[in-house]
Amino acid sequence: MINTIKNIITWPFGFVSDYSLKKFFGVTALLLLAISLLTLNLYINNISFSFLTQKLSAEEEISESTTSTVTIEKGDTLSNILKREKITIEDIQKITKIAESENLTLLKIGKTITFEYSINLLEKEGEELATEQKALNMISFEVDNIKSIDIIKSENGFSTEVRSVPLTKLITKYETIVDSNVISSLKKAGLSSNSIISLINTYSHQIDFQRQIHPGDKITVITEKFVTSDSKLSHHGEIIYSSIQSQGNDYTIYRYSPTGQKEGYEFFSEEGKSTKGTLLKTPIKVVRISSSFGYRDKHPVHGYGAMHEGVDFAAPTGTPIYSAGNGIVEFIGWASGYGRIVVIKHNNSLSTAYAHASKFANGLKKGSNVKQGDTIAFVGTSGNVTGAHLHYEVRENGKKINPANFKSTPSVQLTGVGLNKFNKFKNQISRLKSKLDGNIEIVASDLKEVDLF
Ligand SMILES: [Zn+2]
Repeated sequence: MINTIKNIITWPFGFVSDYSLKKFFGVTALLLLAISLLTLNLYINNISFSFLTQKLSAEEEISESTTSTVTIEKGDTLSNILKREKITIEDIQKITKIAESENLTLLKIGKTITFEYSINLLEKEGEELATEQKALNMISFEVDNIKSIDIIKSENGFSTEVRSVPLTKLITKYETIVDSNVISSLKKAGLSSNSIISLINTYSHQIDFQRQIHPGDKITVITEKFVTSDSKLSHHGEIIYSSIQSQGNDYTIYRYSPTGQKEGYEFFSEEGKSTKGTLLKTPIKVVRISSSFGYRDKHPVHGYGAMHEGVDFAAPTGTPIYSAGNGIVEFIGWASGYGRIVVIKHNNSLSTAYAHASKFANGLKKGSNVKQGDTIAFVGTSGNVTGAHLHYEVRENGKKINPANFKSTPSVQLTGVGLNKFNKFKNQISRLKSKLDGNIEIVASDLKEVDLF
């Protein structure tokens, strides 16, 4: 057998007489054959490889993504929304489980849920329509203006990620002359509802917005404004400066920190007096405003007068009522026409009363200490009333006085070096104010005139 193989190998080289030489040629030939076969094999492989490549490019794959945004409506549940989006039952179960752990199953009307899908388009040569393969990538739950929670799908299942929308902080100025209604005038000027509420609450020590603001009054507000990358308003931030010229009075306020620390910010008047004083002019937390808010020709809520020795603040039932100043609860309970009423004693000569409450703050009783701005009760319709409101009285030496005429003592009065520093700040704000004329908005980080933050 071995001899036969030897003969086959050496056979083509029969002319070589020497056997070992024959063997050498034989082995060399075998090696050459092996190399050629290997090369041929590589060549064939190559052909088939390029053939496959050609086949792939004939069926082109294009990856795209698409989103679909759902605005939550009354009666919506997460599982109904997921079903409408044609998410598989298996995925719905997994998504619901993870959503529960992130408190995302309690849907808030008006908020959005965005679904992101990747789409693979399979284009086949000779076929006009591409085949679409849609796969869920992510579900994004809007939490608030700047925050969303994403549920992301991966090979291992679902995971969550908290995402903040990148926002740019601008400094901007709004100006308006109040027409028939203060709220609509401010809205027309460009302020959002939240910034108007914030303005009313900022002035709660000085101005009773429901009575003191009249047609023709001039309001100027410099405020922070947060916008998205496509310049859409996200929300308004801190009020930096505001001026209200009303019936010959000037209520100008500056957000200023006498210590230069971020925590030290409060509002100061032109004279360097803190706007915080003995009593609040508006002892409710304004949380909602409607077009019926504020001055009207005919007052459905009463101001101070001979027949009505207090002022009425129209507000929805449940609106928190604030203690107008620091003090001690002198009376808490029911008093005929007043309904549920709280009386706070601030000092030997001064007290305030809050009537028609729907309920009192938990644990509040006669003798309790309260601080200015503490919630003591909630607006309601108890006693002799026609609609929900707070009836507020200020009593000085036992006599009911007009709250508008009560002169509060400011909690801080800047003097000396502190006042000089504040006056320099006022000049900077004045320059900033002129710079913002003509609807100019400045990116906060580019602001050189004044250090606000
Ligand atoms: Zn009243």
